[in-house]
Amino acid sequence: MNGRAMASSAPFSAAYGGDDRVVAERLLASARLDAEQEQRIDRIATRLIEAVRTDDDPLGGVEDMLREFALSTKEGLALMVLAEALLRVPDARTADQFIEDKLGEGDFIHHETKSSAFLVNASAWALGMSARVIQPGETPQGTIGRLAKRLGAPAVRAATRQAMRLMGSHFVLGETIEAALARVHAPTAARYSFDMLGEGARTAEDAQRYFNSYAYAIDAIGRSAGGRPLPERPGISVKLSALHPRFEAVSRVRVMNELMPRLIELARRAKGYDLNFTVDAEEADRLELSLDVISATFADASLKGWDGFGLAIQAYQKRAAEVIAWIDALARGHARRMMVRLVKGAYWDTEVKRAQERGLDGYPVFTRKAMTDLNYVDCARRLLALRPRIFPQFATHNALTVATVLELAGGDSGYEFQRLHGMGEALYARLSEDRPALAHRTYAPVGSHRDLLAYLVRRLLENGANSSFVALAADDAIPVRTLLRRPADIIGSAAQARHPKIPLPRDLLPHRINSRGVEFGERAALDQLVADIARAKIPARGSIADASLADAEHAIATARDGFRTWSATPAAERAGMLEKAADLLEARRAHFMALLQREGGKTLDDALSELREATDFCRYYAAEGRKLFGAGEAMPGPTGESNELRLRGRGVFVAISPWNFPLAIFLGQVTAALMAGNSVVAKPAEQTPLIAAEAVKLLHEAGVPITALRVVHGDGAIGAVLTAHPDIAGVVFTGSTEVARAINRALAAKDEPIVPFIAETGGINAMIADATALPEQVADDVVTSAFRSAGQRCSALRLLFVQEDVADRMIEMIAGAARELKIGDPADPATHIGPVIDAEAKAKLDAHVARMKKEARVHFAGGAPQGNFVAPHIFELRDASELTEEVFGPVLHVVRYGADRLETVLQAIERSGYGLTLGIHTRIDDMADAVIARLQVGNIYVNRNMIGAVVGVQPFGGHGLSGTGPKAGGPHYLTRFATEQTVTINTAAAGGNAALLSGDE
Ligand SMILES: Cc1cc2nc3c(=O)[nH]c(=O)nc-3n(C[C@H](O)[C@H](O)[C@H](O)COP(=O)(O)OP(=O)(O)OC[C@H]3O[C@@H](n4cnc5c(N)ncnc54)[C@H](O)[C@@H]3O)c2cc1C
Repeated sequence: MNGRAMASSAPFSAAYGGDDRVVAERLLASARLDAEQEQRIDRIATRLIEAVRTDDDPLGGVEDMLREFALSTKEGLALMVLAEALLRVPDARTADQFIEDKLGEGDFIHHETKSSAFLVNASAWALGMSARVIQPGETPQGTIGRLAKRLGAPAVRAATRQAMRLMGSHFVLGETIEAALARVHAPTAARYSFDMLGEGARTAEDAQRYFNSYAYAIDAIGRSAGGRPLPERPGISVKLSALHPRFEAVSRVRVMNELMPRLIELARRAKGYDLNFTVDAEEADRLELSLDVISATFADASLKGWDGFGLAIQAYQKRAAEVIAWIDALARGHARRMMVRLVKGAYWDTEVKRAQERGLDGYPVFTRKAMTDLNYVDCARRLLALRPRIFPQFATHNALTVATVLELAGGDSGYEFQRLHGMGEALYARLSEDRPALAHRTYAPVGSHRDLLAYLVRRLLENGANSSFVALAADDAIPVRTLLRRPADIIGSAAQARHPKIPLPRDLLPHRINSRGVEFGERAALDQLVADIARAKIPARGSIADASLADAEHAIATARDGFRTWSATPAAERAGMLEKAADLLEARRAHFMALLQREGGKTLDDALSELREATDFCRYYAAEGRKLFGAGEAMPGPTGESNELRLRGRGVFVAISPWNFPLAIFLGQVTAALMAGNSVVAKPAEQTPLIAAEAVKLLHEAGVPITALRVVHGDGAIGAVLTAHPDIAGVVFTGSTEVARAINRALAAKDEPIVPFIAETGGINAMIADATALPEQVADDVVTSAFRSAGQRCSALRLLFVQEDVADRMIEMIAGAARELKIGDPADPATHIGPVIDAEAKAKLDAHVARMKKEARVHFAGGAPQGNFVAPHIFELRDASELTEEVFGPVLHVVRYGADRLETVLQAIERSGYGLTLGIHTRIDDMADAVIARLQVGNIYVNRNMIGAVVGVQPFGGHGLSGTGPKAGGPHYLTRFATEQTVTINTAAAGGNAALLSGDE
C-alpha cells in the first residue's frame, strides 16, 4: 500500500491498552546509548538542573509556587481549590464562606517569609493577612466573625481575590490576544504558540464562541507575525473539544460533518499568515477521532503547499509510536511537511480513572513514569529520523529529557523545544546561553483570570506531583544524581513495566474480578460490539405467555420443595454457580445487550452498563456469600462449650423487579436471594419478560437447579398472588412506592410468620449547585443525571437547586448541552436518549410536560421523533413544593435559591419524604459536609453525576419513601435474606472438659 492510499483510506488503529511488557521490551532494547553519549547527557542535564536550582527570578514561576506551597501540604491543596474557583463566585456571602473554608484548612502565616519570590510573597501576604486571626484549635466557623470584625469581611475577600489574580496574571500572557501580543512584541526572535483558554464546549454557542476567538486570534497573531519564515513564525494551538459540544467517538458522523469544516476554516486562516497551527492532544478515547479529523483536514486541497499544520502526540500513550508512523504516512501521502509536538501528556490521572471505571483490559497510558520517559525518548528518536518531512517540537521541562533529545538530535537545527509560559524559564534560558542556535517556543495561554486559574491548577497538579521532574528539581534535598537516573535503569526489566500498586482495571476490586467493559473510543472494539449485537438472534417478542394462577401456585410449590436441597448446597457451590453465571453473561454480552436494546429500548452505553452491573452483582454476592454463609462464626463464651452463629436461607423468596433495569435488578435480587440459600420465584416486569426468561435460563445453565429458581410472568395481579401466598418466606421488590405499600399491606394481613420485605422505590432526587461549582462540570453531570436512560432511573435527577447568583449561566449551559443530545433509535451508537418504555409511560410524561408548559417557566423543550420518545425538558419552578411526585422521564425541574437560604432547600428536600439520591456541586467542603450530615439520603454524590451506582463500590438504596434498605450491592444486603441460627454444643458433656484440663500453663 503506498503512502497516499494509506493516508486517505486507512483510519488509525492500534491496540488501545496494549501489554506494557511488550512495549517495554521494545523500548528497553533500543534505550542504550554509548558511554560517551551518556556522559554528555549527564553533563548537559546537570548544567540545566543547576540553572533551575539557582534561579532567582524575582517574579517566580511554577517552580517557586511548588517550593512554597507543595501539593502535599494542606495549604497547597487549599490554595489550589481556592484558585480554581474563587474568581467565578459572584456573591460576597459565598466568597467569604469559601475563603473561610479553604483558609481554615491550612496555616498560611508561616509562608510569609520563606520565599523571596515576589509572586509567592504577594499571595502569602494577602492570604496571611486573611488567615492571621485563625489560631490553632479554633474552628473556621468561629473565626469568620472575629476575622470580619478585625479586618472587615470585604477586606479579607478583596485581599484573597487580589492574591488569586496575582497568581493568575503571572501565568497568563494576557487576558486578550492583543495584550498577549503586546507583551511578546519584543525585538527577540522568540517563538510562541498561543492557546485560547477555556473548558471544552458544552453547547453550540460555546463552540461558536471558541471558534470566533480562535479565528480572531489567528488574524491578530498573523498580522503581527513579522517576516520570518516557518518554523520561526508564531503559532496557535487549538483544542478540538472546544470546537464541538459532542467531540466524542460515538458522535463521529456529526464531528466529521460539523467540526471538521470549522477546523479547515481555521487552518486556512492560519495558512493565510503561514502560521504554525497545532491541534492539541486530548484524552485517549478521543485519539482516533482526532486523527480522523486531522487527516481529513490535512487532506483538504485548500491547505496544499503549507507546512505549518501540526498536532501534538502524547508519549504517555502506548500507541504513540503507531501514531507517529501513521502521521508520517499521512504527510508522505500528501507530500507535505508537518509539525509534530511531542508531549508526555496532561491527563494521566484521568486516563487511569477512566480505564478503571470502564473496566478495560488495559490502560491506554503507562502506569510508571519512567515508561513515559522511555517512550518519549523513543518517540523523539523516531521523529528526528523523519526530518525534514516532520518538524519535531519537543515540549518538556525535564532537563534529562532535554539533554537526551539533544544527544539524539546531533545538532541544533530541524527541530525545536517547547515550554509552557511561566515554567522552565531558567532551564531554557541556560540552554539558549549555551546553544544560541537552538530554538524553543513558548506555549502561551491567553484568557481571563477566571479561565486561567483553572488551567493553572491543572498545571500545578501535574507538575506538583512527586513523580514530576519540575517538583523534584524544585526540591533541593533531592540529589542531582537522582534526577539523572535513566528511565531504562529505573524500569530495569520489561517485567517491571507496570506500576505494582496500580492494578489492571479487572483486578481493581478485592475478592472478585471487575466486569469487563468496552472502550467506545476504540473503533475496532465499538464496531465489533455493534456488529455482534446486530447479528444476535434473540427470541421473538410475544413468545412468552403470562402465567395463570395455577402456574403461580405450581411455581411456589416447586420452589418450596426445592428449598431444602438448595439451602443444603454448600455456600461455596452456590457461589461458584453465580460466578459461572457472570462468566456466561460476559461471554454472551452481545446477546444480552441485543435483548436490552430491543426489549428495553436501551442505548448502547446503557445496555453495556447494565450488563456490567448484572455481572458485578453475580460476582459480588458470590464473594459476600462465601464469607457469610460458609463456616459459621464462632462466638466467645465459657470453656467447655462451643457457640456458633450461622446464617441460612429462609425459604421461598418472591423477587419482583422493574422494567428499567430488566437484567441488572432482576439478577441482583435473584442472585442475592439464591446466595443466601433461598429458593426463588421471580416475577419480572411484564414489559421485559424476554430478558428475564433468558437470565433465568442462564442461571439454570450455570447450575442453579430449576427447583431453586422459577419465573412467573405477568402483570401486577400475578405479583399480588405471589406476595399474598402463605408459603413465602420473604419478598424483595423494586418499583413504585404505591406497589411497595400494597405488598407491605398484603404481607401484614397474613397470619403466617412475619416475613422480611426488602423494597427499593423511587425518589424526587435533588442536586444542589452553588456558585463555587464549575458550570461545565455541573452541566455535564446534570445532563447525565437527568436525561441519560431517558430519565428512567430511580436515581435520576428530578429537582435541581441552583444558587440564584449563577443560575442564569448554569441553566443556559445545561439547556445548551441538552440541546446537543441525540434522541432516537437506541441501536444507533450515536443515540444518547432512547425511547421511554411504552405508550402508557409516554402519555403520562407528555401530560406532565403539557402541564409544566403552562405552569412553569420553560428553559428547554426538545423535539422527539415519532414513537415512544419523550424529549428532554427543563422547567423552572418557583418553589420545590410544586413538584409533588416522581416524574419518571427526561424532565428536569429547576429551582433557584439564595445563598442565605440553603436551609430552605434542605427543608424542601426533607419534606418530600424521599431519600434516595442527592447531588452536591460545591468547592466548599463545609457546605458539603453540613448537607451530608443533615440529610437522610441513601446515596450522596459530591461533584459528580448521581447515577450509575457501582455494585460493591456505591451500595445503592434509599430511606423514607425511597425504600427499606438494606442497600443492594452492599455488605449488609445478603443477611436480610437470611435467618440466623445459633448452635451451642456442650463439649464437656461427655466426661468433662478435656481441653481445659490438658491446657498448658
Ligand atoms: C508546549 C507544551 C504543549 C503541551 N501540549 C499538550 C497537549 O496538547 N496535550 C497534552 O496532553 N499535554 C500537553 N502538554 C503538557 C505536557 O503533557 C506536560 O507538560 C508534560 O507532561 C510534562 O512533561 P515534562 O517532561 O515536562 O515533565 P516530567 O515530570 O518529566 O513528566 C511528567 C509526565 O509523566 C507522566 N506520568 C506521571 N506519573 C506517571 C506514571 N505513574 N505513569 C506514567 N506516566 C506518568 C505525567 O502524566 C506527565 O505526562 C504540553 C506541554 C508543553 C510544554
